[in-house]
Amino acid sequence: MSACLVPARVVSAGPGPARANRSSRAGNLAAVTSVGEVVAFLERRYPPAWAESWDRVGLVLGEPDAPVATIALVVDCVPETVEEAVDAGADLIVAHHPLLLRGVASVAPTTYKGRLVHRLIKADIALFTVHTNADVAAPGVSDALAIRLGLSSLRPLVPASDDDPRRGTGRIGELPAALSLAEFAARCARVLPPTAWGVRAAGDPDREVRTVAVCGGSGDPFLADAVRAGVDAYLTADLRHHPVSEHLADGGPALLDAAHWATERPWLDAAAAELSAGLGVRTVVSDLDTDPWTVHVPSTGKPADQWLEAKESRP
Ligand SMILES: [Zn+2]
Repeated sequence: MSACLVPARVVSAGPGPARANRSSRAGNLAAVTSVGEVVAFLERRYPPAWAESWDRVGLVLGEPDAPVATIALVVDCVPETVEEAVDAGADLIVAHHPLLLRGVASVAPTTYKGRLVHRLIKADIALFTVHTNADVAAPGVSDALAIRLGLSSLRPLVPASDDDPRRGTGRIGELPAALSLAEFAARCARVLPPTAWGVRAAGDPDREVRTVAVCGGSGDPFLADAVRAGVDAYLTADLRHHPVSEHLADGGPALLDAAHWATERPWLDAAAAELSAGLGVRTVVSDLDTDPWTVHVPSTGKPADQWLEAKESRP
């Protein structure tokens, strides 16, 4: 969480009428939808079968018959975003990252995740996860990221193995005009949700960038796909020293490393708009930066040779 760069409690209301005077799509006084109806809506839009085999998506907590008037959308289900949802009067949280990805033997409130489970149940808030099934959807997580960066003519970086050519992991698109890598990195830092991490770029700062691949979240498994696609640059998150160095040495595209949360946060707005339009519910989207990095300090030390020189000239 970034305590200083991003306001700690910012919840932006999505489209949809306020809870107190909400009316139905037919214009009558309104009925609230149910957890079960939200689950059915989301599973039609993001079928669980599209999720990776290791992933855990779907309903985590909540009675199917429980009423839902307000849905909160978050990248991470953590204590701070849960409290935002409580404050917003949410009945259900749609989270991108699974709270319970691996098997658990206990949800006792003496554990971190157990406390979250108890808090949600006591606050009568259901929890639903849409993860890798949203990554490969069309539109999906990387569409929202690509659109935020100003890319158009979008197509998958790694097409899904089915009949829909729009679906798949990552997206490739075109900038309206070529930019240098340094200019493109500055643009990304300007238009992505603010984080302490910001945006790093690897490659010649003057390199021309026009065709760009993006992948929301940890996209280093797809470096080779970005090379094969012949793009000028590839933006994702969680990139590492050796894969990046070797990729550049092999003549691959320039690389941009953004904050994981910032690459997935744009999708929340798209999902909120779909839920509001499809179910008439009120939606709130969390802007709380849940990236773990909270401080980023550009180097201010002198290069090593200057240090040596300074030492040698010391009296
Ligand atoms: Zn992610």
